Amino acid sequence: MMRQYHEAKAAAGDALLLFRMGDFYELFYEDAQEAGRLLGVTVTTRDKDKGDQAVPMAGFPYHQLDAYLAKILRAGRRAAVCDQVEDAKQAKGLVRREVTRIVSAGTITDDELLDPLASNYLAAVVFDGAKPTPGEPAAAGLAWVDVSTGAFHAAAINQRRLADELARLEASEILIVQEHEALLPSEVADRAVVTCRPASAFAVRPALDRLLKHFAVSSFEGLGFETNDPPQVLALAAAGAILGYLQETQRASLAHLERLTPSGSGSHLEIDAATWRSLEITRTLRDGRRDGALLGVIDRTVSGAGARRLAEWLRQPLVEVATIERRLDAVGELVADAALAAAVRQTLREVYDLERLVARVTTGRASPRDLASIGKTLAALPALKARLTGRRSERLAQLEQRIDLCPALHKALAAALEEACPLSSRDGGYIRAGYSADLDECRELMAGGKQWMAAYQTRMQHEAGIPAIKVGFNKVFGYYLEVTHAHTGKVPVEFIRKQTLKNAERYITPELKEYEEKVLSAEDRANALEYSLFKSLLEQAAECSSRLLSTAGSLAELDTLAGLAELARARNYCRPEIVDEPVLSIVAGRHPVLDLSEPSGTFVPNGVEIGSATSAEGAHSEEATLLLITGPNMAGKSTYIRQTALLTLMAQIGSYLPAESATIGIADRLFARVGASDDVSRGQSTFMVEMTETARILNTATRRSLVILDEIGRGTSTYDGLSLAWAITEHLHDVVGCRTLFATHYHELTELAERLAGVDNRSVAVREHEGRVVFLHQIIAGPADKSYGIHVAELAGVPRSVNERAAAILAQLEQAEAARSGAGAPPPGAAGLQLTLFETVEHPLLDELRKLDVDRTTPLEAFELLHTWRQRL
Ligand code: ADP
Repeated sequence: MMRQYHEAKAAAGDALLLFRMGDFYELFYEDAQEAGRLLGVTVTTRDKDKGDQAVPMAGFPYHQLDAYLAKILRAGRRAAVCDQVEDAKQAKGLVRREVTRIVSAGTITDDELLDPLASNYLAAVVFDGAKPTPGEPAAAGLAWVDVSTGAFHAAAINQRRLADELARLEASEILIVQEHEALLPSEVADRAVVTCRPASAFAVRPALDRLLKHFAVSSFEGLGFETNDPPQVLALAAAGAILGYLQETQRASLAHLERLTPSGSGSHLEIDAATWRSLEITRTLRDGRRDGALLGVIDRTVSGAGARRLAEWLRQPLVEVATIERRLDAVGELVADAALAAAVRQTLREVYDLERLVARVTTGRASPRDLASIGKTLAALPALKARLTGRRSERLAQLEQRIDLCPALHKALAAALEEACPLSSRDGGYIRAGYSADLDECRELMAGGKQWMAAYQTRMQHEAGIPAIKVGFNKVFGYYLEVTHAHTGKVPVEFIRKQTLKNAERYITPELKEYEEKVLSAEDRANALEYSLFKSLLEQAAECSSRLLSTAGSLAELDTLAGLAELARARNYCRPEIVDEPVLSIVAGRHPVLDLSEPSGTFVPNGVEIGSATSAEGAHSEEATLLLITGPNMAGKSTYIRQTALLTLMAQIGSYLPAESATIGIADRLFARVGASDDVSRGQSTFMVEMTETARILNTATRRSLVILDEIGRGTSTYDGLSLAWAITEHLHDVVGCRTLFATHYHELTELAERLAGVDNRSVAVREHEGRVVFLHQIIAGPADKSYGIHVAELAGVPRSVNERAAAILAQLEQAEAARSGAGAPPPGAAGLQLTLFETVEHPLLDELRKLDVDRTTPLEAFELLHTWRQRL
C-alpha cells in the first residue's frame, strides 16, 4: 500500500495528498505534519515499533472532505484527492487507488466551497519573449476561466494593463511561468494563489493544439482569434496553458468549457485597478464588504447566477450604443410590465444554479441530488418560457428562445429520481419505485427477506421453546440467533455456535444462512442497479450539457435584467439616453449608494452638464469639458464627482439611473484618482502613488474618456501641489480634451476658468445660519467663497483666537489680491501664478517690517519689537 501511496504522491506534485483508506482520508510524512498545522488534526505515527522509521500520519473521516478542502484552499495550498477506484468487495488483493483530481483555489466545482454570488476565476498570464523588460510596454496574453460555470475568455493586452485586468477579475488562482512570477503586481499576487508552471506548459504550439482538439475546430478564426497576430497568439497560449492545467488536475471531461471568448482591448469600458478599487464597485475600500459597494446596492437579483452575471457586467461595461440599448429595452419592458417581472423573479427563486450543476455533470462529479435539482429546474421552465413569449424587446425575445426545455431529460429525471435525493450515489435510495422492474424486484426481495427473518424468529421461539431468542446482524457473522446463557441448554441441535458473549451465545443455522444470502445479495444488487441507473441519467444529462448551458445563461441574464428593472422601479430610476458623442448631461442625479443609505429623501440630487456634441439636426452645443469643483471639506465634492462616474458606469452596463433624466456619452475609459489609495500600506508614499496614478491618466486618457480627480497634490508642499494641479488641469484641457471633474481645495485653480474656454467653476452651496455653517450639498455655478474654510474650522471646535487670526490673515490676503487686480495687472501665465502664490503665503509680519520707520526707532524699542515678532513667528 505504501508503494501505491508513493506513486500517488508523485502524481500529486506539490499538492497535499489525501489518501483514502476505508472511511478516512489519511496524510503521511511531511503532508501529515503540515496537516497538523493547517487543519488542526492530530498527527500520530504508523509503524510505531520501527522507531526512527515510524511514519507520521494524520487523517479525517471521508465525509468531512469538503470542510478540510476548504481549510487547505484557504491556506493557499492545493490538495490531491486519491480515491479507491474499485469496489473493496470486488478487489482481488489491494484495492486500486488513483488521484482523481487535484483541487486548487481556481478549480473548485463543489457548492460547499464556492461563493454562490461570485465567479471563481483561474487565470493564466503569458509574457512576450523570454526576457520581459518591465519598463517596455509589451504584449501579454491573459486567459481566465470559471471552471464552476464554464465561462472561458482570452485577451491580448498591453503588459501595463495587466494589473488592471487582474485586479478586476479578482482571480483566485494565477498560472504563470516561474521566472515571471516576480512580474506579477504585488497586490494581485497577495490576493490570489500563484501557481508556477514550467515554461513548457505555456509553449505555443502544444497550447494551440490542445485548444483545437478540445473545441474540435481546425482553426481559431471561427472562435474570433487571429493566429497571425502575435499578441493574440499569446492570448491563446495562456488559454491553452489553462486547458492543460485543468486536464492534468481535473482528470474529467471539460465539455462545459464550450467556447473561448475573445476579450480584446476596446471591446469594453476600461477601468484601471486604482479606479476599480476607489470607486468601490464590487467591494468597499475600508473593509472589503460587498453590500456597501455599488454591486451590493444595485444587486436585486434572486439567484446566484444572476448576481454573478451582474458582477460580470460591471467588470466589462459595454461601449456600443446598440448593445447597451438592447439591454435597456429589455429592462424597460420589465419595468413597464411589473407582472411579467414578478413572474420571472418568482420562477428564478425556485430554480437551482444550473450553470454550476452542469459543470458538475460534465466533470462527472454530480450527485443524485444534483441531478434531481436539474430535474426540478427543468420542471419550472415551461411556464417561464410561455410567460416570455411575444416579448417586444429583442433581448428578451432572444433569451426566451435560448431557454431549452430539454423535455426528454426532464421526463427521465422526473420519472427516475425521488423527491429528496442523497449526496452519495453509492448507497442507493434515490431511484423511484416503478422506474425499473429489476430494481423493484430486488427491493421486494429485501423487504420480503426481512419479513421472513421476523417470522423465522417467532417460529424458532416456539419450536425451541425459548421466548428470548432474537435474530440479530453484525458485519462479521451476518445474521445470527442470540440466546441468553440461561436458555442455552434448550438449544436445538441444528444451531451452530459462533460466538460467546458475557451473558449470551450466538448461533447460526443453515436455513438462516440461506436466507441471508438472498437478502444481502438483493441489497447489493439493488445498490449496483441504482448506481448504474444514476450513471446513465448522468450520461443523458451530460449529452444535454450544451443545451442546459444555454438555458442557464438565459436564466442568469433574465435574473440580472429583472433585478435591474426591480431596482429601477423601487428607487425611481430613469432610462438614460446613450450617445456616442463625449457628452454627459444628468438632471437631478443621485449617488446610487448614498441615495440608499442616507435617511430617505435627504440626499440632495445634483446635475451635471459637460462635453460638446453635435445633434442629428446639426446643431452644435458646446459645454465646458472640465469642471473645477471647490467648496469646504465635507460639502459633498467627492460624492458629486464619484456619483458622476458611477452613473456613467451604470449606464454602460444597461442599467437605469438614479436621476430625473440623463444623456450619457459612451466613455472608452474611466479614471478616478480619489482619496488615498491602499497602496500607502505597501511602503509607497501617498504622493508617489497619487502621481503614478495621475501619470497614467495623463498618458492614457483619450477625448472619449471620463476622468474624476479629487484633491490632487495634497501630499506635497503647497507650491508643488498647486503648480502640479494647475499644469495637470491645463494638460487635460488642452491636450486630452476628455470630460473631467476635478474637486479641489486649491482655490487658486478657479482662475483657470477665466483663461481656458473649456473650464468652468462649480462649487457646493453652503449657507450660514445663526453663525453656523450649513452644508446644502447642492452644486452651483461659480467658485466657492474662500472664507467658509474658517467657518468650518469654527464648527469643528478650533479655538476662537485661532479663527479670528485666520480671518484677519484672509482679509489681508484678499486686500493684496484686490490691490493687484485693481492695478490692472492681468495674471500673465506662469509668472502671474508665481506672484499669486508668493503673496498667498506672505507672513503679515513682513508688512509691519516694511512699515517700520527704522530711523525713528530706538535700539531698545527695536530690541523689544524683535522680541515680540519672534514670539509671533
Ligand atoms: P467633500 O468631498 O466635499 O469633503 P464628501 O463628498 O465626502 O465631501 O461628503 C461629505 C458627506 O456629506 C458625505 O459623507 C455625505 O454624508 C454628505 N453628502 C454629500 N453629498 C450629499 C448630497 N448630495 N446629499 C446629502 N448628503 C450629502
